[in-house]
Amino acid sequence: MSRHGGGIYPSAMSETIFSKIIAGQIPSHKVYEDAHVFAFLDINPLAPGHTLVIPKEAKPTIDLLSDESAAAIGRALPRLCRAIMKATGCSDYNILQNNGRAAHQVVMHVHFHIIPKPASAQGLGIVWPAGAIEPIAAGVLCERIARALA
Ligand code: 5GP
Repeated sequence: MSRHGGGIYPSAMSETIFSKIIAGQIPSHKVYEDAHVFAFLDINPLAPGHTLVIPKEAKPTIDLLSDESAAAIGRALPRLCRAIMKATGCSDYNILQNNGRAAHQVVMHVHFHIIPKPASAQGLGIVWPAGAIEPIAAGVLCERIARALA
């Protein structure tokens, strides 16, 4: 077991540089911390105020996160968004959450990017290769997802 600033979670193979940041072994520009959540400025920001919000629980992808951590992240995110928008003067922003290498995840510890979108070219650029939904395949997929949720 390891203790991270008030929360206790099992040590895992999934410990990364973010576990060291939570533990204060690596410095960061911390903007928020509670029993389950830690938030700090991204070291390579896409725009001023680019912030990473992470659970103290060291899990690589969001599907593996405990309900407790997920709820704590959900509580903290809107509050952090409000504070970052107030501090940067931006009203537009993106939240990005990558899972898996093919999905552009580099650090294998769940994290949410809050990325202000200023009027300039700064911020997140998105390529969105949209297709068209096919009704029969969509119906099959809906049933499959519903069965997986049950
Ligand atoms: P990903 O591609 O995994 O979604 O994003 C990982 C993010 O973590 C990147 O935006 C990168 O700049 C940030 N990052 C990686 N290492 C560090 C670090 O040591 N400190 C901070 N503050 N950010 C980091």
